[in-house]
Amino acid sequence: MEIIPYQFTLDDKKVTTYKLNFEGYKIMLDCGSNLLKREDFMDVDYIFISHAHLDHWIGLYENYKHLKKDCKIFATLTTKKLINAIVNDFLNGETNLSSHEKKQIRSIFMNIKEKYFEEPFACGELVFTLYPAGHMFGASMLYIEGKRTFLYTGDMDYVKGNKVRSYYFDASKRIDILLIDGTKLYTDSFKKTWISEIKKDIRERKFKNYRIYVKDKTKAVFYAFELAKEFDDRKIFYEGDLSNVNNILYEQGYDIYEKNRILSIKMMKSKYPRTISITSKSQEKAKYCETKLGLHISSDDIHEFIYQYARRAKVLIGHFDLDYYDKLSNDFKNFHFLQKEKVKIS
Ligand SMILES: [Zn+2]
Repeated sequence: MEIIPYQFTLDDKKVTTYKLNFEGYKIMLDCGSNLLKREDFMDVDYIFISHAHLDHWIGLYENYKHLKKDCKIFATLTTKKLINAIVNDFLNGETNLSSHEKKQIRSIFMNIKEKYFEEPFACGELVFTLYPAGHMFGASMLYIEGKRTFLYTGDMDYVKGNKVRSYYFDASKRIDILLIDGTKLYTDSFKKTWISEIKKDIRERKFKNYRIYVKDKTKAVFYAFELAKEFDDRKIFYEGDLSNVNNILYEQGYDIYEKNRILSIKMMKSKYPRTISITSKSQEKAKYCETKLGLHISSDDIHEFIYQYARRAKVLIGHFDLDYYDKLSNDFKNFHFLQKEKVKIS
């Protein structure tokens, strides 16, 4: 078995794409790197997209021409829908592509095969199963069963009591090789700090109308959801351009309209005394701009997950944050940080 890791960009310390040679099949685990080239795609049999964040699939948009004819791409239905919404936004603003090229790109993304959690499906001699990754709406992990078994987590999250934000894996399954994706391995609990920071800012700065700019639409929806729970005294507004993503998530069964407290900006008929509006349109006038938001698992969760499998699994981590390296090296002997080089596993 062989894995080639690709960083997101050259200077980035996280790996967001892996090309796996597994029992004769070439499998691309996510497809987000900006470093991917024609040669990387020519022999790929399967592409798995773990979730709709750009750094996990934008390489496919850029290399759509280089796919093998029978290459199959799969993702959860939510991920497929979210990506297609983003692709449509891109293509509507794209001036350098011909209408034929746009059509080709659309058809690649429309043809992503939608898969459901815990429903195994055959890919050649291998069996693939998706499990929830908790990281964002529709995020999934990929479990591969062949002669050996392999779990790729993608970005993952675990928030107690929050189903949408918690990964799940069937603990009775064997994992021979565990590949944990390149999340930000901060030593404190990153996911707790990002949302509390903004809540604190809203409380302390006491603006009547608070405006937040978040570029990624799914994160904007997520912000709205979290803030609606926290601030009973405020109306929460989405800007109109989030409605598309909003509808997809609603269709997919996510309860994002908590108690009807989150309103589309179009519904702002009367003047509300205290509001929080969330936009992905323009940073102007925003009191808070997303600069470092990530919905990532904390180091504690990663440790817990590795501990479950460390005794027999080979553990690979798609990240090379060297501060963290020492801590992990002490706790786990059987693991390997994937950096830029190809890794062979016998
Ligand atoms: Zn992500």
